[in-house]
Amino acid sequence: MPLLAGKLGVVFGVANKRSIAWTIAQAWAREGAKLAFTYQGERLKENVEELAGTFGADTLILPCDVTKDREIAGVFRTVSEKFGKLHLLLHSVAFAPKDALEGEFVNTSREAFGMAHDVSAYSLVACARAAEPLMEARAGGSIVTMTYLGGERAVPHYNVMGVAKATLDSSVKYLAWDLGQKDIRINAVSAGPVRTLAARSIAGFPTMEEIVEQRSPLH
Ligand code: NAP
Repeated sequence: MPLLAGKLGVVFGVANKRSIAWTIAQAWAREGAKLAFTYQGERLKENVEELAGTFGADTLILPCDVTKDREIAGVFRTVSEKFGKLHLLLHSVAFAPKDALEGEFVNTSREAFGMAHDVSAYSLVACARAAEPLMEARAGGSIVTMTYLGGERAVPHYNVMGVAKATLDSSVKYLAWDLGQKDIRINAVSAGPVRTLAARSIAGFPTMEEIVEQRSPLH
């Protein structure tokens, strides 16, 4: 019996076939989960429709800019209407202005700092809050977000995104405390460098890849 047979999930963060969210969604679907997807803006709609459509023409695909409470509410309202409950939530979303990922962290503007934290960390809190009643209705669930080592240690060029990841990591712990009482688990997966759209904005990304290749046990 597949591990996730009968489970219902929603996936935030597929931009294209290289997205970490897409790889996770494929694994979840392979294990039997039925999934809904969100996309940010018309620019990505076609990509996500094409990818998510491989799970069936009736796959639920909804717009959501995670900085907009109204759009988050819309996603969970529709998921509630179509699924009635929810077992899985993948939050694989992050953003910082490109110029904040170059040069020195000390030069981060107030605007870039706020935006990185809003998109990359607060959005997890907002999505978890919206998912909670749907997961509770099913007596539990699992929320997964994506983090990176740059939240624990200073990694050259990762700058404000590292600080946002530290906020994300801490939010995971506080959310775990609140939601654990309702049998909702929340975990952050810390990925190594993966060549995706988001990774392109990070200056020095090839150096990160080289270091991981040299030092990680599986090279
Ligand atoms: P990706 O394919 O570019 O995915 C990032 C996603 O975030 C995109 O779908 C992007 O949409 C979305 N996003 C950005 N701002 C948004 C907003 N306001 N509302 C809704 N969605 C928004 O890159 P990825 O590497 O797979 O990133 C997924 C997660 O993994 C991120 O949290 C990232 O920090 C984390 N991570 C990545 C690596 C790596 O090396 N790639 C390593 C560790 C952790 P747009 O394209 O429209 O902005």
